[in-house]
This record gives sequence, C-alpha cells and structure tokens, in this order.
Amino acid sequence: MSIPTLVSINPATKKTIGSVQVSPTNQLPPIFERAQKATASWSNMRLTQRSQILRLVRKKLVAHMDELSELIASETGKTNWEGFLEVFTTVEHLRHISRSGPEYLRAEHRSSGIFLHKKCYVNYIPHGVVGIISPWNYPLILTATPVVEALMAGNTVVLKPSELTPLTGKRMGELFHEAGVPEDALQVVHGFGDVGAAIVDSTHTDMICFTGSVDVGRKIAIACAEKLKPLVLELGGKDPMVVLEDANLERAAGAAVWGGFSNCGQTCISAERIYVVESVADKFIGLVKTKTKELNVGPDKTNSDVGALVSKQQQEVVMAHIKEAVNGGADILSGGEDLSAVGGYFIKPTVLEVYDESSNIMTHETFGPEICIMRVKDAEDAIKKANASSYGLSASVFTKDKKRGQKIAKKIQAGSVCVNDVMTNYITADLPFGGVGISGIGRVHGPEGLRSFCQTQAVLVNRFGLKREPWWYPISKRTKKLFKTVTKIIYG
Ligand code: NAD
Repeated sequence: MSIPTLVSINPATKKTIGSVQVSPTNQLPPIFERAQKATASWSNMRLTQRSQILRLVRKKLVAHMDELSELIASETGKTNWEGFLEVFTTVEHLRHISRSGPEYLRAEHRSSGIFLHKKCYVNYIPHGVVGIISPWNYPLILTATPVVEALMAGNTVVLKPSELTPLTGKRMGELFHEAGVPEDALQVVHGFGDVGAAIVDSTHTDMICFTGSVDVGRKIAIACAEKLKPLVLELGGKDPMVVLEDANLERAAGAAVWGGFSNCGQTCISAERIYVVESVADKFIGLVKTKTKELNVGPDKTNSDVGALVSKQQQEVVMAHIKEAVNGGADILSGGEDLSAVGGYFIKPTVLEVYDESSNIMTHETFGPEICIMRVKDAEDAIKKANASSYGLSASVFTKDKKRGQKIAKKIQAGSVCVNDVMTNYITADLPFGGVGISGIGRVHGPEGLRSFCQTQAVLVNRFGLKREPWWYPISKRTKKLFKTVTKIIYG
C-alpha cells in the first residue's frame, strides 16, 4: 500500500512547494517506543550538557536564517521579513532557555517550616515523552519553542507540525539533529488530526503540549482527562486594545496597525478589538486609517508589508465576518476587499468601526487582516467591554500615565497585558505565556513554562539520626500535652 503524502502549497501563489510523507497511525507505535527508550540517556545528561546542545541548535538556526525565513514565508504566505521575525524570536527564546534553563530546573530549596531538623527541596523531573502538536500560523516559533523547553527539561519529543506547514517542521527537525539533538530524542511525524489524536491517545506519551484552536484543544483536554495526562493548551484569542484619552495616539495607532495586520492578522495575540475613549476617537481613527492605507499587500514577499491568508477557507471566514458586521451596521473605514485577483488568498487590510458588541467579528476569533474599533465612554467602560469575552489570551492598554496603565492591566482578564505596547510580550522569553478562559490552560516560556514540562517532586530529608519522631507510635500523654502547649505558643 502506498503511503499518502501531504502537499505544501504557497497560499500567496497557490503553487506547490514540496511534499512530505504522512506518518500512518499504525506506524506510530515504534516511533513512540524509540522516544521512550531515549528518555533514559537524554534525561541523564547534565543540565549544562543539554543547554550546550541547545546553544548549538541556536547557532545552526542562525546559520540557516535566510533559508528558514524563505521557507516559512513560502509555506504560510507571509512576507520574508515576517519569516525572519520568526527565526529571530525563536533564537531569542533558545538563547534564554539555554542560559536560564539550568538555573530554573535545578533542585530548589524550600523552607521546612517549624521542622528545623528536616531539609526540604523540590526536584524538577521530566515527564518522559512529550507529544507536541503545533499550528500553521507561526510554524517555526510555535514548534521550536515548546520543543526546546521540553528537551531542556529532559524530555524526549514526538512532534506533529500542522498539515499546512509540514516542510518547516521537517527542516527544523533536520537542523536540530545536525546540531546534536539525538534522532530519537526529537522525532517529527506528519499528518492531519488523526495523527495528532494518536499522539494524545498513546500510552507512551506522558504529557501533551498543544497549540491551536479552541475546538481541537477541547477535544484534546477531554482525551487527556480520560488518561489523567498532564497537558498545556495554548489556544485562540480575541485580544482587546484599550486606548485612553491620555494616550500617545501616534504610538497607539501604530500599535493597532502592527498588532492587527502583521502576519496578515493571523496571530493568536492580534489586536482584534480596539476600545478607544470617545474624546480621542476621531483623531485615533484618522491615524489608523492613514497608516493602514500606506500598507503594501500582495505576493511580492520582499517588498510587501502584508502577505496572504493561509487558505481559501481562512479567507472565507474573514470575509464572512466582515460582511456580517457590515450588514449589522458596522462601517468600513478602510479596505474590506477580497484581493484574490492578485493570485493568492489576499484581503485588503480592513478597518471597521463597530457599534454592536454581539456580532461574530467582536465575539469570535476572526484571524485575519481586520481590526474593529469601538468608541467607549471612559476607562471603566473599556475594561467592561474588554472583559466581555470568553477568550483571555493577551491585551494592551495605551495611556501616558504608566501607573494607571498598570492598574488597569490588573483588571483585565488576560494571560498577558502590555502597557503602551502590543504583542512584544511574546518575544520576551522570560515572561510566561498562556491564556485564561477558553484561551488555554497552563503556561509556556519563562520559569513557569519550563517547569510545565516537568513533574514537581517534593523531597524531605531527615537531617539527624534520631531514633523516632515524637508523633510516631507510641505517643505519650506528655507528648500530646506538649504539642498542644507549643501550638498555643506558636499559632495562638
Ligand atoms: P487547529 O486546532 O486546527 O490545528 C492545530 C494542530 O492540531 C494541527 O497540527 C492539527 O493537525 C492538529 N489536530 C487537529 N485535530 C486534532 C485532534 N483531534 N487531535 C490532535 N491534534 C489535532 O489550529 P490551526 O488552524 O492550525 O491554528 C490556528 C489556531 O491556533 C487559532 O485559533 C490560533 O489562535 C491558535 N493559536 C494559538 C496560539 C497560542 O499560543 N495561544 C498560538 C498560535 C495559534
């Protein structure tokens, strides 16, 4: 029987760029077994040895920077600059993980409380085999960073990249191996959802890290719940941006346009809902319109600012959201046109002023080159509207009063908040990343993220060679009385 292939198509030109063989689910068990066998030697390496190999991986990716940027751009339809930004972000994360990993994963002293004759600490122990399932929108960052965290923590990995971007995942795997990651410590398999589901269901995978849609994330959570398998879910978002009356409007408008249109709006932390205080709304909207109209869109990967959407299906979802919003009374301030005529799945960057909070474009992830602006009375109104969503991935607040911005950040229900910035939190490798609400469970990045890939083992060591503890059998009346007296003295 011939093995089916996955064909990778450039969404900006609709031309085929290559293919990979699908990994049939009945051929996965030996792959899982090899991953499990490899855990012994990989996890027994010293932390500094693993971090040294990951340093070499970083250097390898930099040496292949242009090739990777070009490949990412071809598979996703984004521009070469955006492809490069993926490589840049990935190597920044690699640098951080290989530098700070040994410190974050070292055994950590803990207080033994009143038990001065005990020593307490925590071990961060790898789970074993981690199944990593990744999406197409950032095929290098969202694949490489969880892989590197899992490996740094001492796990081996079975990775399934998205069926839309298999070539980037395949090439990444090759470069990791060339840099010294053992073949069985990182194995890349290809296919559709059934291959992902087989990774989740396998008795050989000890943890799952999934990045993708809420619908698939929910299925994976149910499958993991059945097996009580630990998981991290990095899911979708509908991020709010709050622009207050004292904001630097030039900066806020620039952030809205970059936060809304970079990667053709296909970023989980894209600024999709913008709440601007009425008194500055006209000026802010004017600036956003001007900046949006200056953007070049099209298949010229070198000179365009905004590339293609990943597929016809994605293009249809975005156009449907825009159409429904307009039918419901929203005004198109810029763009709104389907640009398929230029060859690929393009949409002109679109700015809408919306008045109805219940339309799909305000409640569901659109994941395209569109930003929706809504006028609000004041900061309180903006916070209320920002929080009126089941998603809670990231958010941003623009105000010249940084203290006020930080106070507002605390009131917004989101895994990350930027004050006077947008999306940069993701590039900042020491900050944990993840969502609240339906945007996900658990964290990647930073010490919290690295430790997600570990079991936390508490260790208590008795310091002295006493024959027994006073609370062991037999317990004398005197001991019971003494404990009560001590309890009153210490805690009363
Ligand atoms: P998707 O959920 O359709 O697919 C993601 C991956 O899951 C793919 O590799 C796919 O083959 C696999 N898959 C599909 N069905 C599966 C199943 N039943 N079991 C196991 N695996 C299965 O998502 P997508 O369209 O590739 O990516 C876009 C989504 O990802 C958006 O919602 C976006 O917001 C989200 N995303 C989130 C983050 C984050 O960090 N929070 C980052 C990027 C993208």
